[in-house]
Amino acid sequence: MFKRVLIANRGEIALRIQRACRELEIEPVVVYSAADAEAIHVQLAEEAYCIGPARAADSYLNMDAILTVAKAAHCDAIHPGYGFLSENDQFADACAEAGIAFIGPSGDVIRAMGNKAAARRLMQQAGVPVVPGSDGAVATAEEAKALADSIGYPVLIKASAGGGGRGMRRVFEPDQLIPLFEEARSESVACFGSGEMYLEKLILNPKHIEFQIMADKMGHVIQLGERDCSIQRRNQKMLEESPSRALTPELREKMGAAAVAAAKAAHYENAGTIEFVLDPDGNFYFIEMNTRIQVEHPVTEFVTGMDLVREQIRIAAGLPLSHTQEEITLRGHAIECRVNAEDPAHNFQPCPGKINFLHLPGGCGVRVDTGLYSGYTLPPYYDSLMAKLVVWAPTRLEAIRRMRRVLEELVVDGPANNADLLHQILYHPDFVRGTCTTAFLDENLDTLLKWSSAGDEEAKA
Ligand code: ADP
Ligand code: ADP
Ligand code: MG
Repeated sequence: MFKRVLIANRGEIALRIQRACRELEIEPVVVYSAADAEAIHVQLAEEAYCIGPARAADSYLNMDAILTVAKAAHCDAIHPGYGFLSENDQFADACAEAGIAFIGPSGDVIRAMGNKAAARRLMQQAGVPVVPGSDGAVATAEEAKALADSIGYPVLIKASAGGGGRGMRRVFEPDQLIPLFEEARSESVACFGSGEMYLEKLILNPKHIEFQIMADKMGHVIQLGERDCSIQRRNQKMLEESPSRALTPELREKMGAAAVAAAKAAHYENAGTIEFVLDPDGNFYFIEMNTRIQVEHPVTEFVTGMDLVREQIRIAAGLPLSHTQEEITLRGHAIECRVNAEDPAHNFQPCPGKINFLHLPGGCGVRVDTGLYSGYTLPPYYDSLMAKLVVWAPTRLEAIRRMRRVLEELVVDGPANNADLLHQILYHPDFVRGTCTTAFLDENLDTLLKWSSAGDEEAKA
């Protein structure tokens, strides 16, 4: 087993990884930017190194600085968390060259799955259903137009390098294709430094269903059930749960087998997620693979009882999977809410700033992963996640009630956030029925916001 692991990340996930290290009796070594000296992941670590200025490009994305610290501090492995360098094939290669284990798949595997157009092709060859669309990338807007005309509208223009819901445009009318293609391409160039685009048929009213997989160096691959991440705003997840109400045991079996086949075809190693869209008729289609630990992994930890980060570290150290597929059982129901420092009343504008006071919920079946504390100032340079509130209960209805209670217990005196909106979602009849599709939040936002501001008025009266 490793002796010292460098954690190349910040915020709640840096703390989450630190916890797994300590329980494995591994010494965690953390890094931070000049904006993060007061961050909890730094305060709780025995060893912390500043790797550069606030801007991510100068710190958390600075491969040389991170590798220099890893070598100087005698780390034998690096955990990249999510975001930042976690899906960077060059960084995985550079770790390997430096003789430091990258806790994730190899650079080759990240390259194969990181280009979303190429990953589609690989999945097709492996017999995993993909959304009808382009065969690889499309070079020009005109080529995209011709293809869209033959696939039929609506279509979705997507960036091969895309992530976080960016570089995507829905097209309903043929005469909109060319301008929206150019718009999506510019956004992709700006966000990801790549203008490579591809095309998929837009599946109407789908659910986002993803499978957690885990694979060791010996070629064993298991799946740990699904997460339903259909509560999204503009293609970004806000609430996730497991299991999904939309899956029968048969469909779960079928989709899980497809996820395992997908991971095997990619010669995958470590933790990964196979994302699908599921249409209202029960047809499912691969959309992408995330080759890293996912934000919403605690939902799976609750229903499987496994520690996924611990498992990641064990796999990177060359140990076999702790469990066979037969030993995995899904127990009860888990829900995660992402509390973000963004103002729903003002188009979800990010609201960094000082947390004057914070009271975190607790109690039976509750887990809170956060980097916040009273008096901390949330810096403006990184993503707006404040806390992940996660609950477990024997049944879905009990989990919903527990999460309502948890959101009521949360007290944040500080920046605006989406906690009230999340609370309203948990009362919406469609959510309670479990029938929400990815269109739900955008379509019902006005109503939900009205409900939460009505609550404010009542509280004032
Ligand atoms: P997940 O399914 O893990 O939530 P997302 O697609 O929501 O994946 O986002 C991927 C990860 O990339 C997120 O966890 C987020 O922290 C990170 N991320 C998103 N936008 C940025 C950004 N602008 N800079 C750095 N990291 C980002
Ligand atoms: P990202 O890398 O940004 O996470 P994804 O390919 O995972 O991109 O897509 C993000 C979201 O967009 C999905 O969760 C889903 O809600 C929606 N989406 C993606 N592809 C399709 C599609 N072909 N039809 C309908 N919705 C889609
Ligand atoms: Mg995705």
